[in-house]
Amino acid sequence: MKKHNFYAGPSILSEYTIQNTADAILNFADTGLSILEVSHRSKEFQAVIDEATALVKELLDIPQGFSVLWLGGGASMQFCMIPFNLLKKKGAYLDTGTWASNAIKEARIFGDVDVVASSKEQGYTFIPKGYEIPKDADYFHYTSNNTIYGTEMRYDPASPVRLVADMSSDIFSRPIDFTNYDAIYAGAQKNLAPAGVTLVIVRDEALGHVDRPIPTMLDYRTHIKKGSMFNTPPVLPIFAALQTLRYYKQLGGIKELERRDLEKAKHLYGAIDDSRMFQGTVTDPADRSIMNVCFVMAPEYKDLESSFMEFCSARGIVGIKGHRSVGGFRASLYNALPAESVKALIDAMHDFEATH
Ligand SMILES: *Cc1c(COP(=O)(O)O)cnc(C)c1O
Repeated sequence: MKKHNFYAGPSILSEYTIQNTADAILNFADTGLSILEVSHRSKEFQAVIDEATALVKELLDIPQGFSVLWLGGGASMQFCMIPFNLLKKKGAYLDTGTWASNAIKEARIFGDVDVVASSKEQGYTFIPKGYEIPKDADYFHYTSNNTIYGTEMRYDPASPVRLVADMSSDIFSRPIDFTNYDAIYAGAQKNLAPAGVTLVIVRDEALGHVDRPIPTMLDYRTHIKKGSMFNTPPVLPIFAALQTLRYYKQLGGIKELERRDLEKAKHLYGAIDDSRMFQGTVTDPADRSIMNVCFVMAPEYKDLESSFMEFCSARGIVGIKGHRSVGGFRASLYNALPAESVKALIDAMHDFEATH
């Protein structure tokens, strides 16, 4: 049976990505070797990382003066690398969820942290607004998409100081105006590649202003200087990322991806809003994520949650269980998820509601 994959991460990849990666595991670039057993210093792999880097710059329209890095350690490693490299005295952070608060915790190791606003007391069900970013902060950090809670900031916030964003779960779903940013990072396992590589885009000029010594591997300048090849990079995830990037380009680039993503999200939120049985968890519709749609059963149907889960799994719908800290359901609609999978979920919701 065809599976409809709604996992939040690692998550669905395009068939194009999976097929080409499978082929390269058997025979990479006609070398007669597997991608799993070639040197990262081979000319064939150098071509892979070069093309992947160029495609990131092209698709996201990244101006001169930025470096694109492929690093290990996950997005969580960036929670400490950002302050290590950028925080002199004070970082300003917006607390919109678990990942944001993990980033805040790490930044406190390096200096003062000003949490400009938080929706924690309300279970992170909305994005705080009307906060002020202190002008004496070294940078302002926000999480563009809160994967666990299903809220998203689909805009580049105005900031009087350097701007840094964790875009792990919504990168490549909207255009980004880089004139505002100094650093963006994204773990690959949501919209790009299998787990193991993190994409970092950093403004070269933002580096070199802190006094503290930085361990070699945690210093962005090490990886800029060596083209992400200071040590062995995650070869296979980078290869898979290249396939995804080629696929994105073939589809028509970011504008087309965004159009598809908006369409999918509109259909699913529409079905939730029209239903008596299901209800969304995000309080302000303007904050609804188009990548992770979180919903629960209305109080009078609460005890049907697990039977709906089983109903879905019998139809090949997998990965819709909400994060353990939130409960309910979460349908992740990443770029690779086809519209027909969204339709399958909506049909399941309709059919289940009709029989209960
Ligand atoms: C998944 C996720 C992370 C954590 O990524 P790791 O690669 O597991 O460290 C951080 N931030 C956001 C927004 C995420 O969705």
